[in-house]
Amino acid sequence: MLNIILCGAPGSGKGTQSDLIAKKYGLQHLSTGDVLRAEIKSGSELGKEIDALISKGNLVPDHKMNHLIEHYLDTLPADCKGIIFDGFPRTVVQAEALELLLERRNMKAVMIDMFVEEDEVIKRLLERGRTSGRADDNFETIKQRLKIYQDVTKPVCQYYLKKHNYFAINGNNTMEDTFAQIDTILQLIQK
Ligand code: ATP
Ligand code: MG
Repeated sequence: MLNIILCGAPGSGKGTQSDLIAKKYGLQHLSTGDVLRAEIKSGSELGKEIDALISKGNLVPDHKMNHLIEHYLDTLPADCKGIIFDGFPRTVVQAEALELLLERRNMKAVMIDMFVEEDEVIKRLLERGRTSGRADDNFETIKQRLKIYQDVTKPVCQYYLKKHNYFAINGNNTMEDTFAQIDTILQLIQK
């Protein structure tokens, strides 16, 4: 199995790259942001709690996210060739939980970390905000999301780096350029 954790700041292009990887390599794409937004849309009580957190740019608690991932892993199709984790793990607690969940299933995952300048991600998110309808694509919330990314999610990259399970790429340029770098890494690690 080819399991990839795609890491990068909000607006770095994780969703776009995940779609491209999923298509070329036939992998399952798990976007935790999309799963949470679907829960909000359902109008459930849980969705309301999640909405209050997301619209302020805050994270959903670890235990809820870990539970969601466990359920996802338990309901994978039998012919699954691998998973792209887009938006998870976002905290070291989540990374530790994922490691255990994967270990128990004889699986492992490698991190690809997309570096994009802060000015560039702000520009992309504000642009997306004009049409996305997302409550968190406004300047104030973007600032909070970037702060959380630096303070809470960046240590997750260190976690994978220390485990020699880590690749970094430059995501500042076109999506084709970014994908070419990811593709090179995937070709290499598949050998
Ligand atoms: P983009 O997808 O454009 O790169 P993003 O990473 O901020 O931006 P999503 O991944 O869609 O956006 O996540 C949106 C929000 O959902 C996050 O700001 C957070 O509140 C919540 N969320 C998503 N994944 C997690 C997670 N693993 N742990 C806690 N909260 C999460
Ligand atoms: Mg996304």
